Amino acid sequence: MLHQMLARLAREYAHARVKPFAESEFGNFVRHDIAIEAKKQLIFLPFALNVKASVGAGVWASVPWLGFFDPLITKSATTGFYVVYLINPHTQDIFLSLNQGTTQVYQEFGESKGREVLKRRAQDMALRVPEFSKHFNTSEINLGSTASLPTGYVAGHSFGRKYNAASIDEGSFYEDLQQMIYAYETLIDRGGSTPSDVMQEEAGSKDIEETRRYILSRRIERSESVRKEVLKALPPICQGCNLDPAIHYNYSGKLQNTPLDVHHSKPISGLSEGETRRYQVPDDFMVLCPTCHRMIHKQNNTADLQALKETLQFLHK
Ligand SMILES: [Zn+2]
Ligand SMILES: [Zn+2]
Repeated sequence: MLHQMLARLAREYAHARVKPFAESEFGNFVRHDIAIEAKKQLIFLPFALNVKASVGAGVWASVPWLGFFDPLITKSATTGFYVVYLINPHTQDIFLSLNQGTTQVYQEFGESKGREVLKRRAQDMALRVPEFSKHFNTSEINLGSTASLPTGYVAGHSFGRKYNAASIDEGSFYEDLQQMIYAYETLIDRGGSTPSDVMQEEAGSKDIEETRRYILSRRIERSESVRKEVLKALPPICQGCNLDPAIHYNYSGKLQNTPLDVHHSKPISGLSEGETRRYQVPDDFMVLCPTCHRMIHKQNNTADLQALKETLQFLHK
C-alpha cells in the first residue's frame, strides 16, 4: 500500500543515501515501485495524471518526493503547480502538498525574490479553492534542509497535510489524497495561478465563469500532448477551408509542427464539479488553420463548423 511504502521511504532514506547512488536498489524501489503503487490510487479518478517519484538525478536529493502532474499544467516538478508528497528524512515526516515548480521561478527572479513570488502564488492558489484548502493545513512545512530546492518547496507549499512514518492513519491518508487531487483539478479549472486580470484580458470578458471556461479551453488547445493526440487522430487539413499545408505550402516537416491549430470545440460544462474528463480525443476537437480558428472563436457557437463553412462559401460552392 502507498502509505506503507512512503513510510518506508521516510524511515530508510537517511540510511540509503549513505550508499552509492548508481544502481541503488532503494532508488529503484522509489522510482519504480512507489510510482506504480501511486498510479493505482488514480484508477477510479476521472483524471489522467502523470506520476513520478524521485530520489534525485545522479546524486541523492535531500528531499525525495512523489509527484502527480496534470499534463495540461506541467509534466515535471520544475514548472507549473502539482500535487506532491515531500519527505523530511530527519523527522521522518511525509507532507502531502499542493506545490509549485521552483526551478522556473528561480530562473526568472533569483532564489531569494523567487521564494517571495512562490509564497505569494501559494497563497493565491489556496484562496482560489477555499472549499478544499480549508480542510487542509496552510502553515509552513519543515523539510529539514536549507538547500536551494527544498527551501523552494517550503515557499511553494500552498496547503496540505503532515503525516509521520510511525503513525499514518490509513483512512484519512487516502481520503486526503483524493481530496487533494480534486483540489488540484478544481484549481486548474479556475485558472491555476494566473491572476484574474490577466485571464480576463486574454478572454476579453468580465464574466468570471466565462473567462475560466475560455482560459481552460485555450489551455487544452495549446497543450502539447493534446495537440499530438489530435493530429494523430484527425487528418492534418483545415476542416474549415480545406487548407492542406502539404499541398498548399509544400510543408514536409513534422506532423507536430504543421501550421494548423487544434480547436477544442466542445463547450466545457460542470466546471466546478471536476467530475468528468475534460475532453475526448478526437470527438471534442477540430483541426483548423489559424485564420479559420480565429474566425470560429468569433462565432456564438464555437462548435458550429457548418456556420464557419457558410462564411467561406466562395470556397465550398
Ligand atoms: Zn482554414
Ligand atoms: Zn479554439
